[in-house]
Amino acid sequence: MTLEQNQIQKLVSYLENFDKGNIINPSNINSKLGLKDKESQKLFSVLSSFGAFQHVYRYYCPNCNNLSYEIYNSLDEINKVEECEECYHDLPQEKYKYIAIYFKVIRDE
Ligand SMILES: [Zn+2]
Repeated sequence: MTLEQNQIQKLVSYLENFDKGNIINPSNINSKLGLKDKESQKLFSVLSSFGAFQHVYRYYCPNCNNLSYEIYNSLDEINKVEECEECYHDLPQEKYKYIAIYFKVIRDE
């Protein structure tokens, strides 16, 4: 993937709106930069490797279509969840298919 210089500048100024501990949905970056889902995911993965972000996760419930309010720091944590916090329906075993990845800002101000 190659990013145009102006995309990088847009991204940097967009990210300045976030404080430490804020959660960023990578999909929101797409409209800002004109990126596809996969491109922004990849971009954030690269940025995570610099220590600016950490991955956090929410599960998506296929029964009630809700995303969990709870945000999980690891896939291990989310795999231990057995039922939806909203509708109490059992969550599917193959939870990796129903996970939304977000990024938590961890850089120092
Ligand atoms: Zn549910």
